[in-house]
Amino acid sequence: SAVPIATVNPATGELIEEFTALTKEQVEERLSRAEAAAATLRATDFATRARWMQAAADLVEADAGRTARMLTIEMGKPIAQARAEVLKCAHAMRFYADNAESLLADQPLADPGKVNASAAYTTYAPLGVVLAVMPWNYPMWQVIRFAAPALMAGNVGLLKHASNVPQSAMYLDTLFERAGFPAGSFQSLLIGAAGVESVLRDRRVAAATLTGSEPAGRSVAAVAGSEVKKVVLELGGSDPFIVLPSADVRAAARTAVTARTINNGQSCIAAKRFIVHTDVYDEFVEAFVADTKALTVGDPLDEETDIGPIATKSGRRELVELVEDAVAKGAVLRCGGSAVGTEGWFFEPAVLEEVTPAMRVYGEEAFGPLAVVHRVDSVEQAAELANDTTFGLSSSVWTADPDEERHLIGRLEAGAVFVNGMSVSYPELPFGGVKDSGIGRELAAEGIREFCNLKTVWKR
Ligand code: NDP
Repeated sequence: SAVPIATVNPATGELIEEFTALTKEQVEERLSRAEAAAATLRATDFATRARWMQAAADLVEADAGRTARMLTIEMGKPIAQARAEVLKCAHAMRFYADNAESLLADQPLADPGKVNASAAYTTYAPLGVVLAVMPWNYPMWQVIRFAAPALMAGNVGLLKHASNVPQSAMYLDTLFERAGFPAGSFQSLLIGAAGVESVLRDRRVAAATLTGSEPAGRSVAAVAGSEVKKVVLELGGSDPFIVLPSADVRAAARTAVTARTINNGQSCIAAKRFIVHTDVYDEFVEAFVADTKALTVGDPLDEETDIGPIATKSGRRELVELVEDAVAKGAVLRCGGSAVGTEGWFFEPAVLEEVTPAMRVYGEEAFGPLAVVHRVDSVEQAAELANDTTFGLSSSVWTADPDEERHLIGRLEAGAVFVNGMSVSYPELPFGGVKDSGIGRELAAEGIREFCNLKTVWKR
């Protein structure tokens, strides 16, 4: 890709710092350092790695003030949310420091029979060097949720971060070594998207994980497939948020605003399509639109700001185009929807009604504070509409009726269902999607096991 590797403040459009991409020789050096570190780390025990991981979490907490500011300046999220992201990283690091050993404990197997007095069990071994291709929307969290389990399992990480968050990439490049991990355990590769293929094809790289857009995911999956390398993909989403008549509609509307606009609306698990039963539709929409209009759009370094700028100029253009396309085809725009401000890439949070399948926003992921509200007549119609998407990441269901709850948990084509709450990622819960939202899972036990060799042992 032709994108420069640079920090450009999305609140002002100002170029803060530009970085030079690594040369071929520098990439080669880092690959051989990674290979050496994989051999060293594989030979360490859980207790040692846990000590280093706790030390890394201590550093993350100690650095939180300046790191949060760095995230806000690189991609525009409100400063309070940047601080929350940093502290969430420390929590996940401690979770894996505390739990990796039990999550990866040997499991006894049933005696396969026939042979007398045999015993069998499974044991988890690290795969080696794992390449992580990561996005800019949570520059710390997306990386840590891969790195913490990977390093605790004894793997080594190579990070190809998004080109617009190089300062975050450089912070993460030194973090684990500062905490005591062997040199090369975790390194950033300042390379463009076009440099990913040759790294992934390198014999020293065992597997890859990618969080980002569907085209990027397909491209990395194709290379991994041709090399027969394990891949985990966490791609986009267009999550449904279903509100039924038995729900606390006011609470649903309040949470809906947060679920759509958190992180300036740039989250894969943001609720993007609000599917509301006709009996409570007007009540929901009035509250939702009023609360959306009340949000403060402005300087993300200001503690009072709810919504900062969109991370990139092209990202904002995309949102404006989605709104224009929908309105031209008959959608009703209840608020916002255009570029605002004289500098930077600000966008007024928008709510669209009367959206039809002919409009781009019906099927595409709106990566910013742009909500679509649909009216339905029944629970089953809600499920059908919710599933009428190529994505399947998470979902949110608002109801006080246990039958409706059970029905929707069964029906929704998604990697998660949150009942009477918004989708959130926690280290304790597996995270990932179905359909075009990806393959594999991050976090919890499933996440740490993805990059392990599950070895079967049988002995007489
Ligand atoms: P991308 O998917 O392009 O970027 C994510 C990462 O993948 C970056 O490190 C990028 O590198 C890299 N990448 C891009 N193309 C390739 C490729 N062909 N091969 C290997 N690596 C690649 O996301 P964008 O920033 O362009 O955002 C576009 C859309 O993606 C958003 O509007 C949103 O829909 C979705 N998205 C979803 C995210 C999620 O959390 N699921 C996060 C971010 C975006 P580089 O920066 O150098 O191009």
